[in-house]
Amino acid sequence: MTDASQAAQQFSFKAETKQLLNILIHSLYKDREVFLRELLSNASDALNRLRFEMVTNRKILDPDSELRIHIRVDKEARMLIIQDTGIGMTRDEMIENLGTIAQSGARKFLDATRDQKVDVAKVIGQFGVGFYSVFMVAEWVRVTSHSFDPEAEAVSWHATGDDNYQIERAEMNERGTRIEIRLKEDAAEFAEEFRLKNIIHKHSDYIGFPIFMGEGKEAVNRQTSLWRTSRQEVTGEQYREFYRQTTLDFEDPLMHIHMVTDAPVQLYALLYIPAKLERGVFSLRKDDGLKLYTRNILIDEYNKDLLPDYLRFVQGVVDSEDLPLNVSRETVQSSGLMTRLRKVLSNQVIKELENLAKNDTEKYQTFWREFGVYLKQGIASNPADAETITPLLRFKTNLAPETWSSLDQYVSRLPDGQKVIYYIVGEDSKSILRSPHLDYFHSQGTEVLLLTDPMDSFMLMGLHKYQDYELKNVAQADVNVTRKPKDEPEVEKIAEADFQSLVELFKKTLDERVVDVRASNRLYQSVARLTDADANANPELQRVYKYLGREYEIPKKVLELNPAHVILKKLLKLESGSDLQNIVIEQIYDSALLVEGIHPDPSSMAPRVQQIIEAALSRQNQKNE
Ligand code: ADP
Ligand code: MG
Repeated sequence: MTDASQAAQQFSFKAETKQLLNILIHSLYKDREVFLRELLSNASDALNRLRFEMVTNRKILDPDSELRIHIRVDKEARMLIIQDTGIGMTRDEMIENLGTIAQSGARKFLDATRDQKVDVAKVIGQFGVGFYSVFMVAEWVRVTSHSFDPEAEAVSWHATGDDNYQIERAEMNERGTRIEIRLKEDAAEFAEEFRLKNIIHKHSDYIGFPIFMGEGKEAVNRQTSLWRTSRQEVTGEQYREFYRQTTLDFEDPLMHIHMVTDAPVQLYALLYIPAKLERGVFSLRKDDGLKLYTRNILIDEYNKDLLPDYLRFVQGVVDSEDLPLNVSRETVQSSGLMTRLRKVLSNQVIKELENLAKNDTEKYQTFWREFGVYLKQGIASNPADAETITPLLRFKTNLAPETWSSLDQYVSRLPDGQKVIYYIVGEDSKSILRSPHLDYFHSQGTEVLLLTDPMDSFMLMGLHKYQDYELKNVAQADVNVTRKPKDEPEVEKIAEADFQSLVELFKKTLDERVVDVRASNRLYQSVARLTDADANANPELQRVYKYLGREYEIPKKVLELNPAHVILKKLLKLESGSDLQNIVIEQIYDSALLVEGIHPDPSSMAPRVQQIIEAALSRQNQKNE
C-alpha cells in the first residue's frame, strides 16, 4: 500500500466547524437523541437521491439491492452502526460534504445559538450541519461509503471531534454509506435496541424506506410518509415537527392543510401557512416553493408552479401519482396536469382560509396582518382570481378604525339603497381620518374604507366592483352629494361677490400651481381640498407611479374652498394683498397637498408656519394691551 491514494490522509476542519464540534462535544443536551433523526434523515435523503438517479441513469452499482436502512448495535463495545443503500459518496464528495461546505452552516449555527434562546439540539439540522450532531454522543465516528457510480472506490472518513479528520481507502463492496459510532460512556443507552426504536417512533416513523434493526425481519418504522398517512393518525406535534424540518423555520406554523384527493387529479399534499412573513435571518431555506414528489420521489425542491404567485407564502409538500417520473419542467407544464394540480391546491388553500376567517377571527387577523399584502397583490396581478380573493380581504374604516372588516360586513352595514362602497386612499390611518375628502362622509355617518397600504393602490387597479357594489374613491369629484348633513347647523356662507374676489386672490397667489379655484359643497370642518380636474383621472394610478418611483408628474389639481369656513371669512377681512393674506393662502394650499400625501417638500413650510404664529401672537398682544 504505497499508493498515495491508499494511505490515510489528514485534513483539518475549518475554523467555525471546529468551534461547532467543540460546543457539541463539551455540552450536555437533554435532546441529544435527535442525532439519530439527523443520521436517518441523511440516509433517507441518500436513498431518495438514488431512487431519482435510477429513473434517469442506468449505470448504477448494485441496481437490484433493496433500498433500506439497517441499524446494528453492540452494547459491550458501545457501538452503533447505521448503514444505508443510498447514493453514497466518492472521496471528493466526502471531503466536501463532511468537511468543507459545513463551514457556512456552522457559522450560521454559531450565530443563531449565541443568544441561547434556541434549543441547540433541536435546530441543528436546520443549518445543514445535522451530521455533526452525532458528536453529542460519539467518542469517534467512522463514515465508510461506496458511491453509486460503478467507477468509484470505497472510502472512509474518521474523526474524533478534535481539529482533524482522516480519509483513506476502504473495503466496502456494497453501495451506500455506513456510519460507525463509538458512543461516549454516558451515551451507552444508544446501543440499546428498544431505546433506538423509541426514538425512531418519535422522530423518524415516516421515513419512506424500511429501517431494520439487528436480526429483525420487519421494519421498525411505519414507512408511509407523513403526507400519505391518514389525518386521524397524525398528531399535532408530528405536524409541527414535520413543518420545522421541511421549512427550516423555528416557529410553529399558523395552520396546516392536509389533503388527499383522487379527482380531478390524484394528489397528497401537506401544506402550511407560516406564522410570520419574515423567515428567520438564519434560515437556509431562502427560496419560495413547494417540494414536489411523485410516487414518493422528490423531483423538485422549490416548485413555484403549484400555486399562484399570491399564495407563495404557503410551504410544504405535494405528491402526485399522476406525474410522470421523468419530469422535465416543460413536459409537466405542457401536459395540463400542472394547471389542474394548481387549481385543486389553490382552491383548497382559499377554502381553508375562508374557514379560518369564519371559525377563528383572531387567528385570521394574524394571518391577514402578515400575508394580506400577498392577496392584495393577487387581485392586481390575477384579475381572473379577483372574485375568489376578494372575500378574504379585510379593511379598517372611518367608523371602525380599530377592527378589520370584510367587504361583506361593510355591505351589511350600508343603509338601504346605497350601492356604492366608498374608500379613501392615504398615507397612514391617522392622517387619513383628517382628510377633507371625508368631511361630508363623516357628517353623514357614511362608512368609508381606509386604504393606507402602498399595495392598496395596486389592488384597486383590479378591484372595481364587489357583487353589485361599485367601489368609489371619495376624493373623486363626481361623488354625488345630495343629502344635507345630519345635525349640522346651517352656517352662513360668504356672499357670492365676496367669494368671487376670494377666488381671484387664490388664483393670483397660486397661479400656475392649480388649474382652478372654486367653491365646494362637500366641506364642513375643512377649509379646502384638492381634487382632480378631470373626473376620469386615476388617483390610484398616480400613487402607483409614485410608489414605483417612476418619473411622473402629479397632474395639477383644482383647489376647492369651503365658502362657509371661518378662516376664509377672516381672510377676506385682512388688508388686500398683505403679506399675511398671501402666506395664509400659501399655507392653505400646502396643507391640502400634505393631507393628499403629495407635498413634495413638507419641511419647506416651517418658516411660513413661524410667520403665521408670530402674526397670531402679535394680534393677541394688541388685544391684550
Ligand atoms: P444536510 O443533510 O442538511 O445537507 P448534514 O450535515 O446532515 O446536512 O449532511 C451533510 C452532507 O453529507 C449531506 O448533504 C450529504 O451530502 C452528505 N451525507 C450525509 N450522510 C449521508 C449518507 N448517509 N449518504 C450520502 N451522503 C450523506
Ligand atoms: Mg442532514
